[in-house]
Amino acid sequence: MSESTAGTVIFAAGTLMPVSSPQIQDGAVLVRDGRIEAFGPLTDVGRENPGVEIRFFPNYTIIPGAVNAHAHLGFRRKDAPEGGTFSGWLSRLIERLPEKETWTAEAARDSAREAIEAGTTYMAESSPYGECLPQLAESGMAGTVYAEFFPHEIGTSEEAVEFIVGKARELREGLPERVNASVSVHSPYTVDPESSRLAARRTREMGWRLAIHLSESPEEVEFVRDGTGGLADIFGSNEWGGVGVSPVRYAQSIELLAPETIAAHLATGVSEEDLEVLAQTGVAAAHCPRSNDFLGCGVSPVPGMIERGIRVGMGTDGLWSSPSMNLFEETLFAVKLHGMSGATGIELATLGGARALGIEAETGTIEAGKWADLAMVEVVPWGADPERDVLEAAAGGEVAATVASGNLIYNRLGA
Ligand SMILES: [Zn+2]
Repeated sequence: MSESTAGTVIFAAGTLMPVSSPQIQDGAVLVRDGRIEAFGPLTDVGRENPGVEIRFFPNYTIIPGAVNAHAHLGFRRKDAPEGGTFSGWLSRLIERLPEKETWTAEAARDSAREAIEAGTTYMAESSPYGECLPQLAESGMAGTVYAEFFPHEIGTSEEAVEFIVGKARELREGLPERVNASVSVHSPYTVDPESSRLAARRTREMGWRLAIHLSESPEEVEFVRDGTGGLADIFGSNEWGGVGVSPVRYAQSIELLAPETIAAHLATGVSEEDLEVLAQTGVAAAHCPRSNDFLGCGVSPVPGMIERGIRVGMGTDGLWSSPSMNLFEETLFAVKLHGMSGATGIELATLGGARALGIEAETGTIEAGKWADLAMVEVVPWGADPERDVLEAAAGGEVAATVASGNLIYNRLGA
């Protein structure tokens, strides 16, 4: 499916938006062995590299590929449970877990394809025991699958953590170069404090990243603070809820918050004091506003996070809580929600996600030395906010080609 450009090629377009530097009219990217060797005006890059094939698309804009900082691949759109409340949605999801097994792999393939066709080149995916790793690995995208574990299905906290760490080690074997596996502590209401703490310690010891869901819903806030509400009912919980603090404070107390951790959502019950905790611990955030909207989960205080220097990336979540796997569409929603500029949006969708995941040296901008992860958007920016023009086009299905590690993994350009 992917078209190799293993040799050397110049991708050029009417507009080049590197994100880390000003846009270039008739800009070009020289790609060699999957990486960006140089970029600049096409006249310069062409002259300095005679004989290299040039693929020039005058009516397009080249931007860095989208970095999806929080996604689930194993859901399909057609039978999403109804939204409205988080606990109601979650209980319907749990009811359908046995049936879901029959179509998870197919859903994961389709979701990955949809992400690629919307310009995604890197994905942080979370799935039970890493079940969607095969589909991510074969998709052509780079990414990490975070294996979720549910200690009550395994044994003691020690046994559960050893099991999931061993599982992630196994998953890491024989993967394509930029595909990886790690561990996710699913949430404060599904993983007990001791297992959470151990998992955070073990993954840090090994230099792995950790994914968590945190402060997603009003029910989670109630569960952690009071030990009551919809989630306590579902999980019979129970033994560890009701600690009298916010989910952020609770996560801090069990050592989950650290620069290696990416916390998804942070949508409900995040106070000013919590923002200080997030900033001090250096944890990164994945913002999933459409999922939050669908599940009645409130609005994440993203501008406050950015102000405090908290690393923020964007995440689509999965198709049972979100209308699409298009990260640029997710980002346009965030831009409207928070009144942000197009430039902030494009940065959140690319470099922001890369920083949140600690991979900014590898992807997220168009710079020499990084992997050639690019999206070609059919748009000639014309307005006062050119990044917004590009974001709207990419959100609206105008990504015409996606390049990951220098390979054209999607191409409807026909050239
Ligand atoms: Zn999620």
